Amino acid sequence: MASKHQAPRGTFDVLPERARARARVEDAAAAIFARAGYEPIATPAFEDTELFERGVGRSTDIVRKEMFTFEDKGGRSITLRPEGTAPICRAYLEHGMHKLAQPVKLSYAGPFFRHERPQAGRYRQFHQVGAECIGTDSPLADAEAIMLLADLLAELGVPGVELRLGSLGSPDSRRAYLEELKAHLHAHEGELSEDVRERIDANPLRAFDSDDEGTRGAMASAPTIVDALEGEDAEHFAEVRALLDSAGVAYEIDPTLVRGLDYYTRTIFSFVCEGLGAQSEVGGGGRYDGLIEQLGGPATPAVGWAAGIERILLALDEEAEAPGRDAFVAVADDGQRTRAMALVGELRHAGLSAEVDLGGRGMKGQLKHADRIGARQVVILEADGTTRLRDMESGEQREVDTAKLTDELTGGKK
Ligand code: AMP
Repeated sequence: MASKHQAPRGTFDVLPERARARARVEDAAAAIFARAGYEPIATPAFEDTELFERGVGRSTDIVRKEMFTFEDKGGRSITLRPEGTAPICRAYLEHGMHKLAQPVKLSYAGPFFRHERPQAGRYRQFHQVGAECIGTDSPLADAEAIMLLADLLAELGVPGVELRLGSLGSPDSRRAYLEELKAHLHAHEGELSEDVRERIDANPLRAFDSDDEGTRGAMASAPTIVDALEGEDAEHFAEVRALLDSAGVAYEIDPTLVRGLDYYTRTIFSFVCEGLGAQSEVGGGGRYDGLIEQLGGPATPAVGWAAGIERILLALDEEAEAPGRDAFVAVADDGQRTRAMALVGELRHAGLSAEVDLGGRGMKGQLKHADRIGARQVVILEADGTTRLRDMESGEQREVDTAKLTDELTGGKK
């Protein structure tokens, strides 16, 4: 019977078929992080609201419209985390990680929350895996970060992935450019969407990200920051590109690339998968040299990224196959159920996946159930104490020595 209760709008249940596919993504990421020395970290699902206001930026869509913010019983403003970087920087400072050998390389996986309009690939609770490399401004770190995500997508077999690369320069060099951009936007005010027009002075870069046709027309002739890069910013960007070139990582320079968070400086990147439609980005990130200082810490350059697990799964369009079971222990007689329970325990300790009937089924029902769960072998415990082994593929059945059963089933695997 269907219940009147449903998962809240923009959220979803992860049923076992999907959970297995998700675990494959998380396991692949964990292995890649471990090989590159990115240690796992986990921060709470909620933080003080101010962390995101300061970190992500008050003029961003995330902070203006998309946060799940509420007052706790003590009257403090709490927000379900919309992203992972600001919390990790908070933890980095709170735990004195700036005193460790730098850079500190961290990785994470978990749920994030944004009150967005739900659609395919865009949810209100979604999951990311991500990496942060904190405490170096070397272009090597940018290249390493990008390569980790490229490796993950390649290893998982995500099809049709393209890497877009840009640079936002540093705040000082950006200042002159932003004035130029604002002047362009003011000159085209009539063509801009209301949302963009309202934010010309607060967040002019966002205009590059607009879906609005008029705005897009006006932006086609806008000056780009990549063309305006100079000095150390230009050198840094050239080095990142050279490192990617020599590592054989293909990319396309996108001078109009921007990201939805205010903290980025210099390198930004985005991995898109055209097959995904409107929400085409599977993952992205960039350098955020000013964030830790903005949160009250010492000036600390850093770079990182996050990838959406749901987007990756959509792009892969697959569900992991059910794993089946090594063995099912069936009883020909109810008197054997205690023995059956002890036997599955032994088989599990030997490293096999094994189940026993928990539903009081008769012999025929047990065999049917064993077939349904994909058991490869069925152990049949007879009333007289003998044990038979049935190969579910061939249907062959033979008597076996109970004492040697585990060895028979592990086939030397143990
Ligand atoms: P961001 O934290 O905005 O830089 O996003 C990083 C990645 O998280 C994106 O490339 C998406 O794969 C994923 N992502 C962001 N927002 C959502 C959402 N609302 N639903 C599903 N995935 C998302």
